[in-house]
Amino acid sequence: MKIGVVGAGVAGSYLSRMLEDRGHKVKVFESSGMNSHWPVCAWGASKNMLETFSAKAGLNFDNYILHSGKILKMYLPENNIEYLDLKGLVTYDKKRWEHDLLKGIEVGYGTRFTHESFPTSDFDYVLDCTGYHRSLLPKSIHDFVIPAYEYLVENVNDVNEFYVIGYKGARGYFWYFPLGGGRGYVGAGDIDRKYVGIEEFFQKNRSARVIKKIGRPIRLSPPSLMKPFFLKNIIGVGESIGCVFPMLGEGIIPSLICSDLFLEVLDNSDKFDYDRYTKKVLNKFRYYRDVYRIIRLKMSGSLNTLKHFKLLMTMYTNMKREEKRFGFEISFDKMTRLVRAL
Ligand SMILES: Cc1cc2nc3c(=O)[nH]c(=O)nc-3n(C[C@H](O)[C@H](O)[C@H](O)COP(=O)(O)OP(=O)(O)OC[C@H]3O[C@@H](n4cnc5c(N)ncnc54)[C@H](O)[C@@H]3O)c2cc1C
Repeated sequence: MKIGVVGAGVAGSYLSRMLEDRGHKVKVFESSGMNSHWPVCAWGASKNMLETFSAKAGLNFDNYILHSGKILKMYLPENNIEYLDLKGLVTYDKKRWEHDLLKGIEVGYGTRFTHESFPTSDFDYVLDCTGYHRSLLPKSIHDFVIPAYEYLVENVNDVNEFYVIGYKGARGYFWYFPLGGGRGYVGAGDIDRKYVGIEEFFQKNRSARVIKKIGRPIRLSPPSLMKPFFLKNIIGVGESIGCVFPMLGEGIIPSLICSDLFLEVLDNSDKFDYDRYTKKVLNKFRYYRDVYRIIRLKMSGSLNTLKHFKLLMTMYTNMKREEKRFGFEISFDKMTRLVRAL
């Protein structure tokens, strides 16, 4: 089949490789320039999952790991501090990973397509892998995004482990993700755009030098709120249809899981079964709806741990079941303390 992939991020580059290897005729379209393309992301994800996805796509994930975390320190409101044992959380060279996946595949760089400007009729299927932008699909009235930006820094001498600062009311958080060799990402997502922690980071780490400032909002609304997933032969995959874990704004693994769901459906019939894809995506990410609800209740100050106990349990049991996929320990006690502290 002739497949156009719009957006060469996580989902777009992985899917292009997998489709090309299946014998489809793939053409990729990416709005950034070939040399200026930079994945806007803190490059942190679970090694356990990325090893599997990489192997399927013919890459050895060990070659991309920059830093393997041991412990995550969380600064919480009212001077509370919590530590999480890390079980596979790493940072990796996401730029090289995405570029390597696209080796040998035709990529048209430098054009930002819209639904009107994209030549959809030239393809059997077109994949909207434009992430937050969702450039080819209609907007969703339920869409909810959080503003975010980050600095790529070098010459950081005193911090060599992941740490975050959670904002009161779960309105966002600050992160430092180490990239090895004194480099790291310093950033924050914050509904109130105050980005507490960033200025303090630079005050404490006088030697840190900014290499790059990058940013874009992160989608928190789950797939159940991001319909439609299709428009004629255009199919959304990844963050474009809400595959982001709402509590963390973490979308690498969810976008790859969504990509595999797309492939499963495509492989199983001559014609793409839109209903089956919808059901699979909604089913796989069902509990993201509950997690999103917890976040919105927290943001509005109306989460009550007793009244919403069932909701919290759903989040815990699902996260515990998928502990390997997150790359950090999932503990009910710590989760409850965290929810209360925020
Ligand atoms: C600051 C920040 C930090 C983050 N950190 C993490 C993290 O550490 N771990 C994690 O798991 N998640 C993180 N996320 C979320 C994660 O990066 C995304 O959810 C994930 O990359 C989504 O994958 P995707 O393939 O759907 O879209 P993206 O990876 O965003 O790829 C979309 C691609 O489409 C291109 N594009 C956009 N519009 C068009 C258009 N009109 N025409 C052509 N091309 C277009 C873009 O240039 C981009 O290359 C972060 C997000 C932000 C903003």
